Amino acid sequence: MSSNQIVIRKKNPATRCDICHMSDQFDSDTETCRRCCNVPIPINATYNPPGITPINEVKSFQQFASKFVAYSFILMVGALALTILSGMLKIIPLAIIFAVVSFLLGSAFIISLGIFALYMVGTLLASIIQSIYDSLRARS
Ligand SMILES: [Zn+2]
Repeated sequence: MSSNQIVIRKKNPATRCDICHMSDQFDSDTETCRRCCNVPIPINATYNPPGITPINEVKSFQQFASKFVAYSFILMVGALALTILSGMLKIIPLAIIFAVVSFLLGSAFIISLGIFALYMVGTLLASIIQSIYDSLRARS
């Protein structure tokens, strides 16, 4: 038997409340506590009050956005290099195609970088406003 196996030898009914850890108001037959029976319990651990974005969602957006910006930049540089290469090899139609592609990728890069920058500035401003609001509320 490995050390991380657990053997349950005996199972006893609960004798005290899971919430307040007291037995004085706890009814072991119905497994309810008269003190805590009206305490609201979140349905799941990932419950978030309305208006608060889960931190994972924010993180995954930042990861996605930074990846998008990085890839569009790399692809733009690649298309630009291919434009120059086909220009040097005097393959003009190919050079025009790569020029258009690099222009589109460049626009995507600039626009996504702008949106990402605005988003970061917005998040920063929101946290500054939140901390000002909190300090004002703490004073009053
Ligand atoms: Zn209780």
